[in-house]
Amino acid sequence: MVDTVDVRRRVRQIEATVAGVHQETPDTASLFLDIGDEPHDYKAGQFITIDPHQFAFLEQTIAYLEQIKEGKEKPRAYSMGSAPHEEHVLITIKEERFWPGESKYPPVLSPSLTRNCALGTPVVIKGFTGAYTLPEDIQSKADNILHVCAGSGIVPNFALIKHSLHVADGLRHVLLYSSKTKADIIYYNEFADLARRHPQHLEIVHCLTREDPVDVEPSSRRGRIDAELISKYVPDPSNCFVYSCGPGILPWERKEARQNGVEPEPRFIEHVLDLLRDRGLDKSQIKQESWG
Ligand SMILES: Cc1cc2nc3c(=O)[nH]c(=O)nc-3n(C[C@H](O)[C@H](O)[C@H](O)COP(=O)(O)OP(=O)(O)OC[C@H]3O[C@@H](n4cnc5c(N)ncnc54)[C@H](O)[C@@H]3O)c2cc1C
Repeated sequence: MVDTVDVRRRVRQIEATVAGVHQETPDTASLFLDIGDEPHDYKAGQFITIDPHQFAFLEQTIAYLEQIKEGKEKPRAYSMGSAPHEEHVLITIKEERFWPGESKYPPVLSPSLTRNCALGTPVVIKGFTGAYTLPEDIQSKADNILHVCAGSGIVPNFALIKHSLHVADGLRHVLLYSSKTKADIIYYNEFADLARRHPQHLEIVHCLTREDPVDVEPSSRRGRIDAELISKYVPDPSNCFVYSCGPGILPWERKEARQNGVEPEPRFIEHVLDLLRDRGLDKSQIKQESWG
């Protein structure tokens, strides 16, 4: 009963204002949202939603897409990169693109959030929700938290790590973060600073898939996250919890594969889950979240 009331209170509509904008990488931008007097009663790792219908400049595009898709466009979810103790609610959005010959439809919301939200823009958000959070009793289950992320999948893990270090819960975090190049690493400076300030509690390994790491943390490397790396950073599978976030098979990719009688092509998250199971981690030790 207490939980139900708590969740109802937490999931509500909030009128936010863009209080800061930061271009993180060539295709990704952060918005710092001022939520006024609303309590920051969320947990690190949770998400908000934004209904694209609120933006007048998207009205015609949405009307057209709803006609051809034969359905209402749904609110889009965005993980919060902020921890509850921070002043602003941070969301970080990767701009999706329309690739002629490849994409079925143009993306609805992310191009506007990354390009059209100047300081002072009002944004109605709905939150807070999501189960990608650290359990209250995490210390009784594990000392080590492994974060395995790719691209914008870093966003909720940034919040988890910041929160844990802020409350000094004693957990030791290792972040394996896959990006194409150094320029594509989101929150690069913020993570470097956290690792410098908390060397006993945070280690960062950048895995660059398209270039050699130059001027990146010394333990970083070129290549995808693989079984060798997982073994190295999970020496004892019984004393580890994993939070993995990144691209996964999308619902319409699954549907299309089913219609064609084939298995959908595994993406980052499916690949990581296989590696973790092979390393001997149980499903109960792994939390995962994925999007496109
Ligand atoms: C819990 C959660 C947290 C998330 N957190 C983040 C985050 O922190 N940062 C972030 O950048 N993103 C995040 N996302 C993803 C985000 O919600 C959006 O999906 C993303 O921004 C794309 O939205 P869009 O409106 O720009 O594109 P969309 O309009 O959703 O289109 C994206 C692509 O999907 C294709 N598509 C759309 N509809 C269909 C269809 N019916 N059939 C076939 N193809 C279709 C389009 O052709 C296009 O290529 C999160 C998602 C979830 C579920």
